[in-house]
Amino acid sequence: MFRKVHIRLTLLCAGITAVIMIIMSLCYLYVSESGLYRNQFQSFQNDIKTITTNLEQQSVISMEWLSKMEAQGSYLFYVLDGGVPFLYNQLSDTKDNSTRSLLLEECRNVYQNLDTTASSAQSDSSYVSTHVEFEFVSESADAKYYGSVISMGKYTSSLEIIVLSSLRVLEQQILEQRFHFFLIDLAAILLLTVFSWIFTGILLRPIMENHRKQTQFVASASHELRTPLAVILSAAECCKSAPPEKQDGFLKTINQEGLRMSALVNDMLTLSGSDNQRFSVRPRPIELDTLLMNSYEAFDPLARDKSITLSVSLPQKALPLCSADPERISQVLSILLHNAISYTPEHGRIELSVWHKKEHFYLSVKDNGIGISDHDKKKIFDRFYRVEKSRSTKEHFGLGLSIAYEIVKAHGGNIQVTDAEGGGSVFTIIL
Ligand code: ADP
Repeated sequence: MFRKVHIRLTLLCAGITAVIMIIMSLCYLYVSESGLYRNQFQSFQNDIKTITTNLEQQSVISMEWLSKMEAQGSYLFYVLDGGVPFLYNQLSDTKDNSTRSLLLEECRNVYQNLDTTASSAQSDSSYVSTHVEFEFVSESADAKYYGSVISMGKYTSSLEIIVLSSLRVLEQQILEQRFHFFLIDLAAILLLTVFSWIFTGILLRPIMENHRKQTQFVASASHELRTPLAVILSAAECCKSAPPEKQDGFLKTINQEGLRMSALVNDMLTLSGSDNQRFSVRPRPIELDTLLMNSYEAFDPLARDKSITLSVSLPQKALPLCSADPERISQVLSILLHNAISYTPEHGRIELSVWHKKEHFYLSVKDNGIGISDHDKKKIFDRFYRVEKSRSTKEHFGLGLSIAYEIVKAHGGNIQVTDAEGGGSVFTIIL
């Protein structure tokens, strides 16, 4: 289930970022390409201006000068004297003469269709000469050209010089730029996908862990509930066919197991409340020493039944008031005391203490019982964890310490377990 979610999240994450990146790349390419075309056209216009000035200074248009200009600027020149072809230079990017003538024809057609009065026609005051620059697509050469027609009135007959500049090189550059962008975007998308996979994996980890714990909790809870339920069902079945004098025994069993189930359900409800943030803690200023004495009085008879000595150690000076929920802290002390009595053999000792040090209050329950190994110390606060299932009595579900942990956590405090000197365990609540 999580694998599918992981894949979907990765695709979503990488997809959104890739779309944004592609849009930005396209915007950049648009701006950059328009700039390139604009610059190229401007430099073509400037070159035409220079060429016009040069031509005006020459008494005779020399073929050499034109071929030099062609070689330098990759321009193609056509000179028409009174509309008659005067000079044809070799066209470097057209294959045959017919193509050349077609190209020239196309350029002249475009020029004739231009509204030259509204176009960029320029005239120089000393000579009657004009030049117009424009862009056109040649169908015969299947390429884009910048064209310019320079009309000169310097000579006896009118001269028309047509200058063509192919955009092939620029278009090639633009194509290369697009290809580079495509490669960069592709690499970035791949990297993004890998990054999204790792990133969403990290995000999903706590959710997966939570889900695993929930599933485990439900499995353990069903398992724990099944035992008393099976006993109740079989006791009820036996009760039906038992003689009246034996029915009391079965009813007692049903009652006991019912109480056990109710205690388990209450514990589970407490924990599910803490998971859903519905765990209510109402702190108010309380005297922790009084609270500890109350717990001592409540558990002393139980300890005596097991011949366990329960004692309290209080500080000599009166403790300051502590902000805590007295019912909840008493519940934690009950869990710890109940465990201490359960896991301490007869004639053992349990000591309750409270002290205050540097803004913190400490409450501890120390026993000289069976103790807890270092390996188990890490796990005993987990739900349904019991060190040795066979060692625990029927009333122990392995939920007590997880409830205690949640209560102390809700107070912003901490609970720790350490080994007691000479054996046994010490549970310390820090508030
Ligand atoms: P349980 O209801 O089984 O006592 P807890 O969550 O309270 O569940 O405790 C978890 C486990 O920690 C217990 O099963 C027990 O093995 C161990 N444990 C808790 N308190 C003590 C203690 N004072 N001495 C030794 N073992 C303890």
